[in-house]
Parts: sequence; structure tokens; C-alpha cells
Amino acid sequence: MGTTPDELDYDFLFSQRGVLNLAHTLQDVREGTRRVNANRLNGVDAEWLAPEEVAKICPILNVSPNTRYPVLGATYQPRAGIAKHDHVAWAFARRADELGVDLIQGCEVTDFLRDGDRIVGVETSQGTIRAGRVGLAAAGHSSVLAERAGFRLPVQSHPLQALVSELHEPVHPTVVMSNHVHVYVSQAHKGELVMGAGVDAYNGYGQRGSFHVIERQMAAAVELFPVFARAHVLRTWGGIVDVTPDASPVIGPTPLENLYVNCGWGTGGFKATPPPAGPSPTSSPPASSIRWAPRSAWSASPPAPWSTNTAPRPWPTENDEENAVLLLNCPWCGPRDETEYHYGGQAHVPYPATPDALTDQEWAEYLFYRDNPKGPFAERWMHSTGCRRWFNVLRDTASHQVLAVYRPDETRPAPHHVQGPGENR
Ligand SMILES: Cc1cc2nc3c(=O)[nH]c(=O)nc-3n(C[C@H](O)[C@H](O)[C@H](O)COP(=O)(O)OP(=O)(O)OC[C@H]3O[C@@H](n4cnc5c(N)ncnc54)[C@H](O)[C@@H]3O)c2cc1C
Repeated sequence: MGTTPDELDYDFLFSQRGVLNLAHTLQDVREGTRRVNANRLNGVDAEWLAPEEVAKICPILNVSPNTRYPVLGATYQPRAGIAKHDHVAWAFARRADELGVDLIQGCEVTDFLRDGDRIVGVETSQGTIRAGRVGLAAAGHSSVLAERAGFRLPVQSHPLQALVSELHEPVHPTVVMSNHVHVYVSQAHKGELVMGAGVDAYNGYGQRGSFHVIERQMAAAVELFPVFARAHVLRTWGGIVDVTPDASPVIGPTPLENLYVNCGWGTGGFKATPPPAGPSPTSSPPASSIRWAPRSAWSASPPAPWSTNTAPRPWPTENDEENAVLLLNCPWCGPRDETEYHYGGQAHVPYPATPDALTDQEWAEYLFYRDNPKGPFAERWMHSTGCRRWFNVLRDTASHQVLAVYRPDETRPAPHHVQGPGENR
């Protein structure tokens, strides 16, 4: 199929302006130099730069030793850069179409067709599609679909946000990433600054993130680039990314015959596009041997109540300011916004009763597999800037509505209970 702009005959607007990964701590320096060496050993050009060399490449970056986290050096890959994601998606879509693949937009998979332990097709919002092999590549909704098929994935769905500023003259010549101060900043072709950082801490399917995450990204950007202090944010957006415990993707067969999965790309799946677009690790048939039922044979089925659909959204959106930050009612201190808390993941996961007797598979289940429902989810929170006590919250991961708050010694309330203002549970 090809993976480069030439092979796909489509311009990616790929700009090889280099990428700097800043180091602000001794640990960052060790990790960065190790990465440079690992790249070189694998034939990839990469350099380690001292702060004054960093300043030559990006003069607007603040490399003063008097900042909160001074720049101690950086990895630099001069051939790296940015590409326009919608161009890349269209390039692959167009070539797939030329190869005879049907691309059906706005068509939601609602269930799987089975013949025993074999998948033989899917039910969709536009009808039934029978297939010799089915690939599940639904990113943030992978767990929801895997649950329909009857197995679990070691992924958690989190909102990830990015933002752009208004347009500026070209001032930022490269891409700067800082894991420690925690932001990445580049300048797009048209002139807007593009920024982002990490995921929101808690699970969510609402396609909106919390305001304070954006606020911290902005603070980090201004710390590294004081020149941008008066830039204005034009827009922010959020998507749902599927995160695995070791930040590695999951690609391969599933417990069901003929069903394959490609998920867990988390916050970095775009830059990894070419490898998965190549041959699958399993022996999949060429696209031309996949047969689709004629559309006239499809029977329409209604959308499932647990829908993976993301539009229109029946829950509050990012436009609904009062929902831009969670308000949690600590059982001991009362209502506080989410910035006061630390997220602890799924609640009610008991330590194994007989740890010595556990198989590797059972240990893996205990350590790495957590529920990831779209809907009511019982989770742990700690009031880290207050009483420092743990408690449980029942929250709808799609609407972010808090359904109940309860102490660890209390039983989980029924999901239909909705927490009222000032009410603990
Ligand atoms: C704000 C933001 C910024 C990012 N920035 C970067 C970046 O700078 N660099 C980088 O490398 N990565 C970045 N990423 C991550 C990257 O976008 C993802 O890792 C990548 O898109 C994952 O690819 P995918 O094909 O697995 O899933 P997606 O591209 O998410 O595609 C999954 C598709 O499945 C569809 N789907 C879901 N459920 C169903 C269903 N039931 N039936 C049918 N279709 C369904 C969805 O509608 C979607 O189209 C960013 C992500 C976000 C949200």
C-alpha cells in the first residue's frame, strides 16, 4: 500500500524542522543521553545538545539557569518534524479506496456476529456486515467493543487535550517537548502555536478535558517561552485516547478466532501511523480477498444503548463551563474541585487472597487489567491537599456526573442514585 507521501501520492505537509526533547533533571539527562545512544545504535540520527546549543536552534526558548527547572540539555533529532494529520488520514483513505476497500462513514459497530468462538461479522447502525476477519481499532472505545465481544483489554480511556493560539508571524523554528515542565510547543504552517501535554488523570469518554489541565499547559509553555506570555488561546479540544499500563500498543489476535485488535496507542499513535499500516503481524489476507455483503442485504439495527457514538452528545460539553472541572464532595471536608484530589483508579479491587498460588496470568490480570466502562464506574480518590484520606466515587465516565460519594467502609450504592448539591451520597 505504501506509507510515504510519494508512495501515496498525497502531500502530508511534512516539515522536517527537528524535535528537541528538553532535560531539566539529572534523571532526564540520563534518560535522554541513553535514548540518543539507543537511536544511534539502531542507525537513527540523534544528538545530545548542551543548553547553549539548544539556544542556537531555538533562540526564543528560555535556557537561563535561573528558571524553576533550568534546561540542562536536550535530545535533538534534526530530521523529525510535524505532518498534517488530516492529510495523512486522507492519503491512506484515498489509497484504501483505490484498492477496493469500502469506507463507510458514520457507521457504528454495535455488536459482533459469532459462530461459536469465531467472529463472522459485525452488527452496525447501518446493518449487518459479514466478514472473514474483523479488525477492532476503535482507540478510546476499544474496551467497550471488547466487552461486547466478551473479553477484556488492559487499556483505560482518558481525555487528552490540545490547544492552538491565534496566528503569529513565524517565530518558533522547531518542535520543543518537555516532559518535566510538561508541555510541547510547535508552530503550525499557518502560524498558530500548537500545544499539548498529558492526559487528564481520570477515565473519561466525554471528549472534554478539565480546564486546569489546559491552564497548566499554558503555564508550562510561558515558563519555557516567556515571549508567548501575551499570546491568546484560539481553541482547545479533547479526544479519547486508550492508554496501556506500559504505554505500549496492543496489536494481534484476540481470544476470538478471526477478531484482531489494534489499540493502546495512547497519546502517540499518530506518529506511529506508518508501521501499523504495513503488513499485519498475523497472516491477514490481502484486502482484495475480503468480501463484503452487498449493501442491499444489510438490515438496519437501532443504536445500542451503550453506544460508542460520540455525536450528538447527550452530556454536558466543554461549552458548559460549570462542568469544566469536577466537583467532588469529600466525605470529611465537603465539596472541593478536582485539583485538590489525587485519582486512584478503579475501586473495590481486592488484593489476591492467596498471592503465592497465583499464576502469571492471574498476576497480570490483577496488576494490569481494570474495568473501563462507558457509564457508571466506582473509583478511588484521595483528598491530597486536604484531609489526605481515600474515599470512593461512583461517576458516569461519559457525562462526568457524580452519582455517589462513599467512604471505603461503606458499600457501593446503586448506580441510579444521583448525588445532590452538598450531599455526600
Ligand atoms: C488532542 C489530541 C492530540 C494528539 N496529538 C498527538 C500527536 O501530536 N502525536 C501523536 O503521535 N499522537 C497524538 N494523539 C494521539 C493519536 O491521535 C492517537 O494515538 C491515534 O489517533 C490513535 O489511532 P487509532 O487509529 O488507534 O484511533 P483513532 O484515530 O481514534 O480512530 C478510532 C476510530 O474508531 C471509531 N470508532 C469508535 N467506536 C466505533 C464503533 N463502535 N464503530 C465504528 N467506529 C468506531 C472512532 O470514531 C475513530 O474514528 C493525539 C490525540 C489527541 C486526542
